[in-house]
Amino acid sequence: MSVAAPPLFTFDNSYFRDLEGLYEPWQAASAPAPRLLAINADLATELGVDADALSAPDGVAVLAGNAIPDGATPVAQAYAGHQFGGFSPRLGDGRALLLGEVLDVHGRRRDLHLKGSGRTPFARGSDGKAAVGPMLREYVIGEAMHALGIPTTRALAVVATGDLIARDTLLPGAVLTRVAASHLRVGSFQYAAAHDEPTLLRRLADHAISRHYPDAVHTDNRYLALFEGVVDAQASLVARWMLVGFIHGVMNTDNMTISGETIDYGPCAFIDAFDPATVFSSIDHGGRYAYGNQPNIAQWNLARLAEALLPLFGVDTDMAVAAATDMLQSFPDRYHRYWVDGMRAKLGLCDGEQDDREIIDELLALLQAQRVDFTSCFRALSSAVLGDRERARSLFAQPAAFDAWSLRWQTELSHQARDPHATAAAMDRVNPVYIPRNHQVEHALATASDGDLRPFQRLLDVLAQPFHKRSGLESYAEPAPASFGQYRTFCGT
Ligand code: AMP
Ligand code: MG
Repeated sequence: MSVAAPPLFTFDNSYFRDLEGLYEPWQAASAPAPRLLAINADLATELGVDADALSAPDGVAVLAGNAIPDGATPVAQAYAGHQFGGFSPRLGDGRALLLGEVLDVHGRRRDLHLKGSGRTPFARGSDGKAAVGPMLREYVIGEAMHALGIPTTRALAVVATGDLIARDTLLPGAVLTRVAASHLRVGSFQYAAAHDEPTLLRRLADHAISRHYPDAVHTDNRYLALFEGVVDAQASLVARWMLVGFIHGVMNTDNMTISGETIDYGPCAFIDAFDPATVFSSIDHGGRYAYGNQPNIAQWNLARLAEALLPLFGVDTDMAVAAATDMLQSFPDRYHRYWVDGMRAKLGLCDGEQDDREIIDELLALLQAQRVDFTSCFRALSSAVLGDRERARSLFAQPAAFDAWSLRWQTELSHQARDPHATAAAMDRVNPVYIPRNHQVEHALATASDGDLRPFQRLLDVLAQPFHKRSGLESYAEPAPASFGQYRTFCGT
């Protein structure tokens, strides 16, 4: 299967070296007719790789899984996971391979991972494949998140394989090359904890510490410090999701990273009208992963991580449980602090230690009651700071309630020392104009699946600068027209 490949990457594969027992060496299925659909030149540069070389046939062969680059040690990673609350002791990469790790131009270690590269020993009954649409979706949403400043895995490329894969209909197959700080998940720890190989859990924890929380080695209890690091990173991450209206959609423990990056863009989507009960995923019948439930679920997942790590916290089980429980219970406060700080910034409130919880909650209640578009409203508020209240006001069917709220908010602002222009500019740096609007994403993916990638590329360009309003792009700032109807998303399988 493999052909000689140019030395595109300089690998240094610590997962392969450190974590035998947590992977199966494996090779990608061959793609009959690989064709590059999208390449992330900025990310390639960050990785120290020549995008042109990657786009040439030898590079595309690597991105398709047809050639193993020098230095790669492809493995399917083992992990377990709670899916919608039910535990599966053996999930693992059913259709993905970790090629290895590279140090980027900033010296950061990054995983290179192929998704959709064929069946592995973890594939169970599934085909190991991925379709073009969902892989381009992961690409565009991940880039949007990155541009919004939210930690995320990113797509380096999507290659159409030339395969047709069986879903509801036959769909073109694709391989996504994913770049991540690592692919360590809560589920990796659940897998290690459930296996009776005595050193595996500790090796995994030490590996995670050295990659993501190196300062933990200077504390009294490095494994508790590791747990604290993950609790804090996830509190921050989920707060950031909430602040832009992002719904992950499938927050299973195998889809929650140790690094604090967002991973696995399946049924995810952004809210338009603000409503905490919003669910887009077609399989989330109970609303377990609804927008407003994401902080609770993050804490639930972290409890599963604590259970897995427990043997490392100390020999005295009672003390270990007490320490883990204390740490877990710090999650709501941490989350709240990140979220309130973020909300205050969105509202231009920057003075002192105030909570401003009432002003925040009242606005959100108004948005919910009047089904106002979350993104448009926050962006319009900077105009109100500069004297044009109409832009925001016109979004409300019953503007009197907005007027009353706005008066109180602007009174609060008037007590601040900061000049209104500086406040408005600061608000525009955190309230995006452009998010991946559901109808725009669907349009871009549908046309791409039909062979026209221009709307996809244009959407990528728009979303690369989410805070910078540009003329001619008005339609990208609009919520979906009513005719778009109730949005439904599907897991990318
Ligand atoms: P996800 O919901 O995408 O996070 O996937 C959950 C689990 O199902 C993981 O173990 C995946 O590797 C596996 N999986 C999803 N789709 C496929 C597929 N088409 N073939 C093999 N395994 C899959
Ligand atoms: Mg997953």
